[in-house]
Parts: sequence; structure tokens; C-alpha cells
Amino acid sequence: MKAVVIGAGAMGCRFGAALHRAGVEVWLYDVAKPHVDAINRDGLRIRAGGEVTALSIPATTDISKVPKVDLAILFTKSIYAKSALEAARDILEDGAAVLTLQNGLGNIETIEQFTPRENIIAGITNYATDLIGPGEIALTGDGIARIMPLSAKREVFAGELARLFTLGGCNTTLSADVMVDIWEKVAFNAAFNALTCITQLPVGGVGATEYGRSLALEIASEVVAVANAEGVNADEERVHKTILGVIGPHADHKPSMLQDRIAHRRTEVDSICGIVVEKARLHSMRADCVNTVYRLIKVVENSYLNP
Ligand code: NAD
Repeated sequence: MKAVVIGAGAMGCRFGAALHRAGVEVWLYDVAKPHVDAINRDGLRIRAGGEVTALSIPATTDISKVPKVDLAILFTKSIYAKSALEAARDILEDGAAVLTLQNGLGNIETIEQFTPRENIIAGITNYATDLIGPGEIALTGDGIARIMPLSAKREVFAGELARLFTLGGCNTTLSADVMVDIWEKVAFNAAFNALTCITQLPVGGVGATEYGRSLALEIASEVVAVANAEGVNADEERVHKTILGVIGPHADHKPSMLQDRIAHRRTEVDSICGIVVEKARLHSMRADCVNTVYRLIKVVENSYLNP
């Protein structure tokens, strides 16, 4: 199998490295030249448990250098998915399968603008990874990934892909209903990404008071209600359990939206909260907490993006 990672940042490198370790010929494609140059010069450096390993994986900022592949893994932030896929159009026209494990809603619809739905494999992951400098990622803790092909045509391929990811160190199983997984992850992210971003506190800071915990649970409940209205069987109790379960063990964790705020970057709030607000409106539902945190983050983003 040959694969390209489109958007080889923290997570793209982690999952690309897993496939490389499993014997797949992997290419890393990214627009960040210092990062790509560092990977080609020193190898992809992976920091885990105090040790650093360097893997020799070819990286490029020029997608035309990538040979024909069987699989493209889209791992940009959702806001850059469309522009990344525009650049990768030729690869997708050759009929490669496209996998997304990105956070948020709307990624599948974006990919569908570039390739038929039957080529798409979607999923979620709770692995946490940081890009700590050009060419170097840090793996935090353990995790899982769940993937599901959107058509029967890719069933065997998705099964093989799950096997290869697992072999390379990213535990991956097939999902029974990926839309449930995606919406439940959105509910979790809408709660913690939004509240840590607004308060500038890590997960433990938000979870330290009943005010923070109850607000996180209310946000998640609103997202689950919208999912249910969309016909997706997301489960409120399961999401609440996950939220309450991370407060202690991940007390110091700074979710990506908080990291984006600190670095004055655009966040993924549109795909994590904005689309939920929009869908709630279409169903004539109230999603007041999600709507409030969405607008607050837009205000915060504007303060540094348009000073
Ligand atoms: P990241 O910013 O580390 O990596 C994204 C990469 O995409 C960057 O290297 C960037 O240069 C590149 N990029 C941007 N525009 C591009 C373009 N047009 N063409 C090619 N490359 C482009 O982000 P990440 O943390 O790896 O997150 C990726 C996705 O995974 C997000 O949706 C995020 O929410 C999700 N996610 C992240 C984690 C985590 O722990 N980091 C965990 C679960 C899910």
C-alpha cells in the first residue's frame, strides 16, 4: 500500500508514522516548509516517554512529487481542509481512498467535493499529539481510533487499514456507526475546547468547579440533542461519562482551541460549535450554551486576527 498524509502536523505525523512502521510506503505533504525540511534532514522525530525516535519518511511541500497512492489521509485542521484538497486534486482523481480523522462536523462534506462518497473512510481518534517544533512531535498517553468506510466498496480496505494502524502503534478498530462517534466527539470538543479557550484554563481548571462541570455537561447535552434531531443516535450519558472521566487524568491538558488562542491562530470553532448552532436553527431548536460559547470565541479570535 502507498499513502500520503495531507497536512502532516501533530496527528498526521503520528498516524503516518504508524503506517510507515507497518510497512506502508508513506509520504508526508504539508505547506510548512521548515517542518518539511526538518523531516527530510533529520527524520521525523517522535518523542514518547522520554525517548526520541527518528523515522526516515519522505516529506514534501510539492504534492506533484508524491507518486500515485492508494490512500490519502486528510489531517489538516478543518479550516484548511478545502485548500489542501484543492492542491491534492490530481491524487484524488486517480481514485485514492480518503481518510479523515479530523475533529468537527463538515469534513466528510468537504471531501465529497473532491471525490465520490464511496472513496471516503471517516473516523475519530482520541490520541493526543503535539507538534513541538519543526520535524518533531510528542505523543501523550494512549488512545484509540475508530474508522468506517462510507460505502461497502471500501470495507475490506478499511479493515486492512485498521490492522495496519494497530500494527504500527495506533490502536484502530472499525466503527459500527461513525456518525455517532463523530457527533459524540463534537459534543466533547464543544464542551472542553470551547470552555478552555474562553477561560484560558486547562481541562482541570474548567473541571475544578461545579460551574465549569455543569456548563461542560450542558453544552454536550445540547450537541447530543441536535445530533438526535439529525437522526444520529448519540448518547448523552456516554458523552457525560467521558467528560467527567477526563477532568482528573488530563487536568493539565490544553485542548487545541486553547493552544490556538495562545498562539493567535484561527480555531476550529466553526466546525465544532458553528455547524451545531446552524443545525439547531434548522431544527428550530435552542442551543443557547453552544451558541454563546461560539460567539464568545468569535469575539476572542477577532481580537487577535483583526487587531
Ligand atoms: P496541526 O496544526 O498540528 O497539523 C495540521 C497541519 O496541516 C499543519 O502542519 C499545517 O501546516 C498543515 N496544513 C495547513 N494547511 C495546509 C494545506 N493547505 N495543505 C497541506 N497542509 C496544510 O493539527 P493537529 O493537531 O494535527 O490536528 C489535525 C486535526 O486532528 C484537527 O482536526 C484536530 O482537531 C484533530 N485532532 C487533533 C488531536 C491532537 O491531539 N493534536 C487529537 C484528535 C484530533
